[in-house]
Amino acid sequence: AAGMVTTTNPATGEKGRSYPAHDLDQARAAARAAHAAQREWRKTSFAERSAIIRKAGALLRERADRYAGLMTEEMGKTLTDGRAEVEKCAFHCDWFADHAEAYLADETVDLGAPGEAFVTFNPIGVVLAVMPWNFPFWQVIRFAAPALMAGNGALLKHASNVPGSALAIEQVFHDAGVPKDLFRTLILPSKHIAALIEDEHVAAVTLTGSVAAGKSVATAAGGVLKKCVLELGGSDAYLVLEDSDAEAAAKVAATARMVNGGQSCIAGKRFIVVRAIKEQFEAAMVAAMKAYAMGDPREEATKLGPMQSVEARDEIAGQVEKSIANGATLLLGGEVPDKKGAWYPATVLTDVAAGQPAHDEEVFGPVAAIIAAEDEADAIQIANASEFGLGSGVLTGDPERGRRIARDELEAGMSFVNENVRSDPRMPFGGVKHSGYGRECAAYGIREFVNIKTVHVK
Ligand code: NDP
Repeated sequence: AAGMVTTTNPATGEKGRSYPAHDLDQARAAARAAHAAQREWRKTSFAERSAIIRKAGALLRERADRYAGLMTEEMGKTLTDGRAEVEKCAFHCDWFADHAEAYLADETVDLGAPGEAFVTFNPIGVVLAVMPWNFPFWQVIRFAAPALMAGNGALLKHASNVPGSALAIEQVFHDAGVPKDLFRTLILPSKHIAALIEDEHVAAVTLTGSVAAGKSVATAAGGVLKKCVLELGGSDAYLVLEDSDAEAAAKVAATARMVNGGQSCIAGKRFIVVRAIKEQFEAAMVAAMKAYAMGDPREEATKLGPMQSVEARDEIAGQVEKSIANGATLLLGGEVPDKKGAWYPATVLTDVAAGQPAHDEEVFGPVAAIIAAEDEADAIQIANASEFGLGSGVLTGDPERGRRIARDELEAGMSFVNENVRSDPRMPFGGVKHSGYGRECAAYGIREFVNIKTVHVK
C-alpha cells in the first residue's frame, strides 16, 4: 500500500479528506488496461464518442456547485470562479464533441498523378497527463476532451493537493459512458512519473506545471523518444503605451493579474509602462487592485480567496520582500495578515527592475509589477527579455498600433490587445521559450496526440 493523501483547506489550515494513493505497480496495471481499452475505443465512431463527451459536459453543468465547492476546499478557489471554471469545461466538451470530426477529417492531396493521396489522423494510444492544482478541472478537461474524441486513452496524475477533484473528473467521464479502463485517475507521487512514461503501454505525455517539472518530464520522454507537450509557467508582460487611457488600461491589467488569485500561468505579471503615463497608471492600478479585497472564498462577493498553500504564500511574500530590498517601491498590500490560512493581499510594486524577483521570476500570486520603459521600442525589448513566452498584451488607444506589436513583435504564444489573455477551445493555447512547446485547443491541440499519417493508393 502507498499510504494516504490528505488535503488541507487553505482558507483555514484545517485538514480535509484523505484518499488512498496508488503505487507504481497499480499505475502500471492501469496503463496496461488503458492500452487494451484504447484498442477498442479507437474503433468507435465520432458520433459515439461525441454522445459520451457531450454527456460529460452535461454532467459537469449539473454538478457545477458541488465541484466548485470541492475546488474551494482543496485549493481555495472562490466558489464563483469555480462555477465559471466548470461551465467552461462543459463548453469545451461540447466544442470538441461538435468539432473533433472536422478537425480530424482526412485531407486529400492532389499529386497530379493517378491514384489517391490523403492525410489521415490515427489516435496515438494512451496519453499520460500530469496536471497542476490551479485550475483543477479546466487543466484536465482541456486535454482530455480532445484526447478522448481523437480516439486516445488517458491516465491522469493530478497535483497532490487536489485528489478529490482528480477523482471527480474520473467519475464524470465514467458516468458519461467512457469505458472505465480508458480514463483512469492515479493518486501517484511524482517520483513515479518517469517510470510510467517509460512503460510500454504509455504512448505520450502532456504536462501543465512548472519549468522544473516540465524539464524532468521532457527528459524522461526524450529518453524513450515519446511525444511530449508542455504548458509551463509564464511571466506575461502587458505594454501600457502612452496613448492609452490609464484607467481603462489599469482595469484590464488588474483583471489580467488577478485571474484565480494571481495563480495562473497566463495571469498578467509584468506591466511595462511608458514613462509619460507611468504616474497616472500607478494611481489607476492601485485603485483597480484595491477592489480585490481578501475574503471567504465561499462568499458570492469575494474576489480574492487564499493562496493554494501556506508554502506558496510564503514564497510570494519572500519574492515581494526581496524585490523591495533590491529597489522596488511598494504601492499597495505586501503584508501577510496575522491569521490562519494561506492569505496574501492584492499588492502593487513599482520601480521594478532587473535583479528583483518581481522582474526576473514568475510571481504566482496577486502581485502586480510595474516596470518603466522609455518608449514603445524599449517596452517591447523589456517584454521579450524574459525566459518565458506564454501570453502577452498591449494596452493602447490605437488598435492598429496594438495589432502590429501583437502580431509581429512580442515573443509569446498569445498576444491580446486591450484585453486580458484567455484560453478558448476555439483558439490554440501554448507558449514559446521556457513556457513550453506544443499547443492545446482547436485543431492544433487535437492534432498533437495523433499519428499524422500519409496514405497513397495507386
Ligand atoms: P508543479 O509543476 O510542481 O506541479 C504540477 C504537476 O507536476 C503536479 O501534478 C506535480 O505533482 C507534478 N510534478 C512536480 N514535479 C514533477 C516531476 N519532477 N516529475 C513529474 N511530475 C512532477 O507546480 P507547483 O504546484 O509546485 O507550482 C510551482 C510553480 O509551477 C508555480 O509557481 C508556477 O510557476 C508553476 N505552475 C504553472 C502552472 C501553469 O498553469 N502553467 C500551474 C501550476 C504551477 P505533485 O503535486 O505530486 O508534486
